[in-house]
Amino acid sequence: TSPVVMTLTDTIYLPSQLKPVPAPQVALAGRSNVGKSTLVNMLGSRKGLAKISATPGKTRSLNFYHIRPGDFYLVDLPGYGYARCAKTEREKWAKLIDVYLTDNPWLRAVMAVVDCRLPPQALDLDLLAYASGQGLPTMVVLTKADKCSQREREAKKRVWADILAAPPLVFSGKTGLGRTALWAEIARLVNP
Ligand code: GDP
Repeated sequence: TSPVVMTLTDTIYLPSQLKPVPAPQVALAGRSNVGKSTLVNMLGSRKGLAKISATPGKTRSLNFYHIRPGDFYLVDLPGYGYARCAKTEREKWAKLIDVYLTDNPWLRAVMAVVDCRLPPQALDLDLLAYASGQGLPTMVVLTKADKCSQREREAKKRVWADILAAPPLVFSGKTGLGRTALWAEIARLVNP
């Protein structure tokens, strides 16, 4: 198989900057510091592609990553749920995400990246419910799996399987666990 080429093509800060991107897209959402940038970097198997933050809440843009082969986009949504920033800032991000998720004919699915150590969080559940309400397939990726025992992973999988139509994927940005399965799932979502 040919290597995956991942290119950051667009960084959007405001709803007014959003323009139609006529290619299939899969959105990646996740609370700040959950390990989403690490996951994106691991998918591209390239360091320094998405900014990995020591300070949570720094990713405040919508990032379009073009993927070849396949000619589709992974769209990294702004980190959300960062309590320490101002309410107006949070509202701005929420608006940007909302505009992007609504009436986007090219959006194929929404993936929520969640911490395998935590029970389902209200923000993630809200986002997934919202995406489902828009008729979009949803998927959960349990990341930081290297920090969870096998038993804990299985328990979390069951919790999420009861909430979602499909069981979640398990991933580690540290060990690379689940990378191939995640790509396979993304490919399935892009070409159902
Ligand atoms: P983001 O805010 O969701 O983009 O989170 P980052 O990717 O910047 O990661 C936040 C912190 O978690 C960083 O210190 C990462 O090194 C760490 N991290 C991310 N993914 C993993 C993982 O799978 N396992 C472990 N142990 N640490 C991780």
